[in-house]
Amino acid sequence: MIRLAIQKSGRLSEDSLKLIRECGISFVNSSLKLKTEATNFPLEILFLRDDDIPEYVADGVADIGIVGQNVLVEANQQALEVQALGFSKCRLSIAVPKTDTFNSIADLNGKNIATSYPNILGNYLAAHNVKAQIHTISGSVEIAPSIGLAEAICDIVSSGSTLISNGLREVEHVFKSEAVLISNQNLSEEKQQIIKQLLFRIQSVQKAQKSKYILLNAPNDSIEKIKSLLPGMKAPSILPLAEAGWSSVHSVVNEDDFWEIIEKLKDAGAQGILVVPIEKMIL
Ligand code: ATP
Ligand code: ZN
Repeated sequence: MIRLAIQKSGRLSEDSLKLIRECGISFVNSSLKLKTEATNFPLEILFLRDDDIPEYVADGVADIGIVGQNVLVEANQQALEVQALGFSKCRLSIAVPKTDTFNSIADLNGKNIATSYPNILGNYLAAHNVKAQIHTISGSVEIAPSIGLAEAICDIVSSGSTLISNGLREVEHVFKSEAVLISNQNLSEEKQQIIKQLLFRIQSVQKAQKSKYILLNAPNDSIEKIKSLLPGMKAPSILPLAEAGWSSVHSVVNEDDFWEIIEKLKDAGAQGILVVPIEKMIL
């Protein structure tokens, strides 16, 4: 049995639960409960505040956890990052009032900066030889300049709309973050085996999300050209259609290359192109 800590309620919760379910793990989730046990995998889930997850994992109260890299690095705990999970992507940035001039990070010398991330910000300023006063506050950082607490802030940004609505402008990217799976450093062989199984499932889900299954029809004299456009996992499958001189081609394409490939396939004579999501991909 392994124990996984995830955020009880917040921006990581929904995607964390979705990932566990996509790994084929079933459990009953009640918003009132602080823990639950999976019914078909040796896993117990603890629901915690995200800030507490690195420490719980480092101490071994939980064996593994899902948390933002921003919280992991800020917490400075002895926990291993084992897998990037691709969701809750955001960045920590420094922002100043939009009418203030800002030429370089050196302009922050002697200034007051409000943040909930004093360690990450402190390291960044030290690396850039900037001496500023860091004010640690736990929430609503973006209002600090307008109430006279600080001349700048360092906070989480995703689209930037919160900054704009508070009259601020992003001037420095300090740290890039996404959700990661973290692990305790001293796990038994048995627990490591269970985590290996879980990681295998997570990676299969991730590969599937990046790929699409594609089916199309084409005249036989276009098949060579189409084959060269579709590498697939090995080579594409080609099946004869009931109509003479035509074949059906099946393959897997990477989402990033998708639109470019579709255009080339059409130009090569492909018709009736179907693109379907893949649920799991085992390589
Ligand atoms: P808790 O109550 O558990 O302490 P919180 O209020 O500290 O929650 P959330 O706002 O739920 O935290 O954010 C959790 C994590 O999600 C952040 O640490 C960050 O990694 C990520 N995150 C925060 N804001 C965004 C955003 N706008 N877009 C994407 N990811 C974000
Ligand atoms: Zn938090």
